[in-house]
Amino acid sequence: MSQLELETELQTWRVAGRQPQVWWRDDDAISLTPELERLTQLTGEAGIDVLLAVIPAYADQALAAFVGQHGHLQPCVHGWSHTNHASAPEKKCELGTHRALDVVLSDIERGRQRLAGLFGSRLVPVLVPPWNRMRDDLAPRLGDIGIKAFSTFTHKRTFPETQVNTHVDVMDWKAPEGAAGKMPDRLQSELAAALGVSRLNGYYPVGLLTHHLVHDEMAWSSLSTIVANTGLAWVSFELAFDSQPRTTS
Ligand SMILES: [Zn+2]
Repeated sequence: MSQLELETELQTWRVAGRQPQVWWRDDDAISLTPELERLTQLTGEAGIDVLLAVIPAYADQALAAFVGQHGHLQPCVHGWSHTNHASAPEKKCELGTHRALDVVLSDIERGRQRLAGLFGSRLVPVLVPPWNRMRDDLAPRLGDIGIKAFSTFTHKRTFPETQVNTHVDVMDWKAPEGAAGKMPDRLQSELAAALGVSRLNGYYPVGLLTHHLVHDEMAWSSLSTIVANTGLAWVSFELAFDSQPRTTS
Protein backbone atom coordinates (compact mmCIF):
# COMPACT_ATOMS: atom_id res chain seq x y z
CA MET A 1 0.00 0.00 0.00
CA SER A 2 2.83 2.35 0.69
CA GLN A 3 4.11 2.15 -2.84
CA LEU A 4 0.63 3.36 -3.74
CA GLU A 5 0.97 6.26 -1.31
CA LEU A 6 4.18 7.30 -2.99
CA GLU A 7 2.75 6.96 -6.49
CA THR A 8 -0.29 9.01 -5.45
CA GLU A 9 1.98 11.75 -4.10
CA LEU A 10 4.12 11.70 -7.25
CA GLN A 11 0.99 12.03 -9.34
CA THR A 12 -0.06 15.07 -7.31
CA TRP A 13 3.30 16.68 -8.12
CA ARG A 14 2.90 15.85 -11.81
CA VAL A 15 -0.53 17.46 -11.90
CA ALA A 16 1.05 20.59 -10.39
CA GLY A 17 3.68 20.53 -13.14
CA ARG A 18 6.46 19.71 -10.67
CA GLN A 19 8.98 16.90 -10.32
CA PRO A 20 9.96 15.96 -6.77
CA GLN A 21 13.62 16.56 -6.02
CA VAL A 22 15.51 14.40 -3.55
CA TRP A 23 19.04 14.78 -2.23
CA TRP A 24 21.16 12.26 -0.31
CA ARG A 25 23.19 12.69 2.89
CA ASP A 26 25.22 9.87 4.42
CA ASP A 27 26.78 10.19 7.90
CA ASP A 28 29.71 8.95 9.99
CA ALA A 29 32.31 8.17 7.33
CA ILE A 30 35.81 7.64 8.74
CA SER A 31 37.57 5.17 6.47
CA LEU A 32 37.26 2.98 3.42
CA THR A 33 35.01 0.06 4.35
CA PRO A 34 32.98 -2.51 2.37
CA GLU A 35 29.85 -0.62 3.45
CA LEU A 36 31.16 2.65 2.01
CA GLU A 37 32.09 0.85 -1.20
CA ARG A 38 28.54 -0.51 -1.42
CA LEU A 39 27.01 2.93 -0.90
CA THR A 40 29.36 4.41 -3.47
CA GLN A 41 28.50 1.76 -6.04
CA LEU A 42 24.74 2.07 -5.49
CA THR A 43 24.73 5.84 -5.82
CA GLY A 44 27.43 6.01 -8.49
CA GLU A 45 25.57 3.66 -10.84
CA ALA A 46 22.42 5.74 -10.36
CA GLY A 47 24.23 9.05 -10.92
CA ILE A 48 23.36 10.33 -7.44
CA ASP A 49 25.60 12.79 -5.58
CA VAL A 50 26.07 12.12 -1.86
CA LEU A 51 26.93 14.68 0.82
CA LEU A 52 29.24 12.55 2.97
CA ALA A 53 29.44 13.70 6.60
CA VAL A 54 32.95 12.76 7.74
CA ILE A 55 34.05 12.57 11.40
CA PRO A 56 37.22 14.72 11.30
CA ALA A 57 39.06 13.25 14.31
CA TYR A 58 39.01 9.74 12.84
CA ALA A 59 39.03 10.31 9.08
CA ASP A 60 41.99 8.61 7.44
CA GLN A 61 44.04 8.71 4.27
CA ALA A 62 42.26 5.67 2.81
CA LEU A 63 38.98 7.59 2.91
CA ALA A 64 40.62 10.61 1.30
CA ALA A 65 42.05 8.48 -1.50
CA PHE A 66 38.72 6.75 -2.11
CA VAL A 67 36.79 10.03 -2.20
CA GLY A 68 39.45 11.32 -4.59
CA GLN A 69 38.48 8.54 -7.01
CA HIS A 70 34.72 9.09 -6.75
CA GLY A 71 33.53 12.54 -7.72
CA HIS A 72 29.96 11.97 -6.59
CA LEU A 73 31.03 11.73 -2.92
CA GLN A 74 31.08 15.22 -1.43
CA PRO A 75 32.79 15.25 1.97
CA CYS A 76 31.73 17.71 4.67
CA VAL A 77 32.33 18.34 8.37
CA HIS A 78 30.56 16.09 10.92
CA GLY A 79 31.46 17.87 14.17
CA TRP A 80 34.89 16.97 15.50
CA SER A 81 34.95 13.50 17.13
CA HIS A 82 31.24 12.59 17.55
CA THR A 83 31.67 12.93 21.31
CA ASN A 84 28.59 13.29 23.49
CA HIS A 85 28.90 16.13 26.00
CA ALA A 86 25.32 15.83 27.30
CA SER A 87 24.28 13.78 30.32
CA ALA A 88 21.34 11.36 30.31
CA PRO A 89 18.40 11.80 30.07
CA GLU A 90 19.31 14.72 27.85
CA LYS A 91 19.68 13.77 24.19
CA LYS A 92 23.19 13.14 22.90
CA CYS A 93 24.93 16.26 21.61
CA GLU A 94 28.49 17.24 20.69
CA LEU A 95 27.86 20.87 19.72
CA GLY A 96 25.52 21.91 22.55
CA THR A 97 25.60 24.39 25.43
CA HIS A 98 27.68 22.09 27.65
CA ARG A 99 30.82 23.94 26.63
CA ALA A 100 31.51 27.59 25.81
CA LEU A 101 30.44 28.73 22.34
CA ASP A 102 34.01 29.58 21.35
CA VAL A 103 35.19 26.11 22.39
CA VAL A 104 32.49 24.52 20.24
CA LEU A 105 33.40 26.78 17.33
CA SER A 106 37.08 25.92 17.63
CA ASP A 107 36.17 22.21 17.55
CA ILE A 108 34.37 22.70 14.24
CA GLU A 109 37.18 24.86 12.87
CA ARG A 110 39.70 22.18 13.83
CA GLY A 111 37.54 19.63 12.03
CA ARG A 112 37.24 21.77 8.92
CA GLN A 113 40.98 22.31 8.79
CA ARG A 114 41.78 18.62 9.24
CA LEU A 115 39.35 17.63 6.48
CA ALA A 116 40.66 20.38 4.20
CA GLY A 117 44.06 18.77 4.63
CA LEU A 118 42.66 15.38 3.63
CA PHE A 119 40.25 16.37 0.86
CA GLY A 120 41.62 19.68 -0.40
CA SER A 121 39.22 21.58 -2.66
CA ARG A 122 36.80 18.63 -2.62
CA LEU A 123 35.73 19.53 0.93
CA VAL A 124 32.25 21.08 0.98
CA PRO A 125 32.12 23.84 3.64
CA VAL A 126 29.02 22.43 5.31
CA LEU A 127 28.47 21.31 8.91
CA VAL A 128 26.39 18.25 9.81
CA PRO A 129 26.11 18.37 13.61
CA PRO A 130 26.40 14.90 15.18
CA TRP A 131 22.99 13.55 16.26
CA ASN A 132 21.44 16.31 14.10
CA ARG A 133 21.45 18.87 16.89
CA MET A 134 23.46 21.89 17.96
CA ARG A 135 23.07 25.02 20.08
CA ASP A 136 20.94 27.78 18.50
CA ASP A 137 23.59 30.49 18.79
CA LEU A 138 26.04 28.47 16.70
CA ALA A 139 24.38 28.95 13.31
CA PRO A 140 25.00 32.73 13.05
CA ARG A 141 28.71 32.17 13.85
CA LEU A 142 29.45 29.41 11.31
CA GLY A 143 30.37 31.93 8.62
CA ASP A 144 33.22 33.15 10.89
CA ILE A 145 34.96 29.80 10.40
CA GLY A 146 34.23 29.35 6.71
CA ILE A 147 31.13 27.14 7.02
CA LYS A 148 28.41 28.26 4.59
CA ALA A 149 25.55 25.91 5.51
CA PHE A 150 24.44 23.23 7.94
CA SER A 151 22.11 20.25 7.81
CA THR A 152 19.97 18.55 10.46
CA PHE A 153 16.89 16.28 10.35
CA THR A 154 13.53 18.08 10.42
CA HIS A 155 11.18 20.04 8.17
CA LYS A 156 11.54 23.00 10.55
CA ARG A 157 14.19 25.52 9.50
CA THR A 158 15.20 28.20 11.98
CA PHE A 159 17.93 29.61 9.73
CA PRO A 160 16.51 29.63 6.18
CA GLU A 161 19.60 31.22 4.64
CA THR A 162 21.94 28.43 5.68
CA GLN A 163 19.91 25.36 6.71
CA VAL A 164 19.38 22.45 4.28
CA ASN A 165 17.74 19.58 6.10
CA THR A 166 17.10 15.88 5.66
CA HIS A 167 13.65 14.40 6.29
CA VAL A 168 13.59 10.66 5.61
CA ASP A 169 15.84 8.23 7.52
CA VAL A 170 16.39 4.71 6.14
CA MET A 171 17.15 3.46 9.67
CA ASP A 172 14.71 2.77 12.50
CA TRP A 173 16.93 3.63 15.48
CA LYS A 174 14.33 2.50 18.02
CA ALA A 175 13.60 -0.95 16.61
CA PRO A 176 13.10 -3.59 19.33
CA GLU A 177 16.28 -5.49 18.48
CA GLY A 178 18.36 -2.35 17.98
CA ALA A 179 18.81 -0.13 14.93
CA ALA A 180 17.36 -1.77 11.82
CA GLY A 181 16.67 -0.80 8.23
CA LYS A 182 13.09 0.18 7.45
CA MET A 183 11.12 -2.04 5.08
CA PRO A 184 10.63 -0.68 1.52
CA ASP A 185 6.93 -0.03 2.15
CA ARG A 186 7.65 2.04 5.22
CA LEU A 187 10.43 4.02 3.58
CA GLN A 188 8.23 4.77 0.58
CA SER A 189 5.41 5.82 2.89
CA GLU A 190 7.71 8.17 4.82
CA LEU A 191 9.07 9.59 1.58
CA ALA A 192 5.52 10.22 0.36
CA ALA A 193 4.72 12.02 3.62
CA ALA A 194 7.88 14.17 3.40
CA LEU A 195 7.11 15.07 -0.22
CA GLY A 196 3.63 16.07 0.90
CA VAL A 197 5.06 18.48 3.47
CA SER A 198 7.45 19.89 0.88
CA ARG A 199 4.64 20.32 -1.66
CA LEU A 200 2.65 22.41 0.80
CA ASN A 201 5.65 24.54 1.78
CA GLY A 202 7.38 25.60 -1.41
CA TYR A 203 8.36 22.38 -3.20
CA TYR A 204 11.81 22.17 -1.65
CA PRO A 205 14.06 19.12 -2.17
CA VAL A 206 13.54 16.32 0.35
CA GLY A 207 16.67 14.96 2.04
CA LEU A 208 17.31 11.23 2.43
CA LEU A 209 19.52 10.29 5.38
CA THR A 210 21.65 7.13 5.55
CA HIS A 211 24.40 5.74 7.81
CA HIS A 212 26.28 3.25 5.64
CA LEU A 213 28.19 1.60 8.52
CA VAL A 214 25.04 0.27 10.22
CA HIS A 215 22.88 -0.71 7.23
CA ASP A 216 21.43 -4.21 7.27
CA GLU A 217 20.18 -5.96 4.13
CA MET A 218 16.73 -4.44 4.64
CA ALA A 219 18.19 -0.93 4.54
CA TRP A 220 20.09 -1.64 1.33
CA SER A 221 17.02 -3.24 -0.23
CA SER A 222 14.80 -0.29 0.64
CA LEU A 223 17.37 2.14 -0.74
CA SER A 224 17.47 0.19 -4.01
CA THR A 225 13.70 0.52 -4.24
CA ILE A 226 13.88 4.29 -3.82
CA VAL A 227 16.78 4.62 -6.27
CA ALA A 228 14.83 2.65 -8.88
CA ASN A 229 11.85 5.02 -8.72
CA THR A 230 11.96 7.01 -11.96
CA GLY A 231 9.53 9.62 -10.64
CA LEU A 232 12.20 11.20 -8.45
CA ALA A 233 14.82 13.70 -9.60
CA TRP A 234 18.05 13.38 -7.62
CA VAL A 235 19.90 16.62 -6.99
CA SER A 236 23.23 17.54 -5.42
CA PHE A 237 23.55 19.27 -2.07
CA GLU A 238 24.47 22.44 -3.94
CA LEU A 239 21.23 22.40 -5.90
CA ALA A 240 19.25 21.53 -2.77
CA PHE A 241 20.88 24.54 -1.07
CA ASP A 242 19.89 26.82 -3.94
CA SER A 243 16.33 25.47 -3.97
CA GLN A 244 15.49 26.14 -0.29
CA PRO A 245 12.76 28.65 0.46
CA ARG A 246 14.46 31.59 2.18
CA THR A 247 11.76 31.90 4.79
CA THR A 248 11.41 30.10 8.12
CA SER A 249 9.15 27.07 8.33
ZN1 LIG B 1 26.80 10.98 13.11
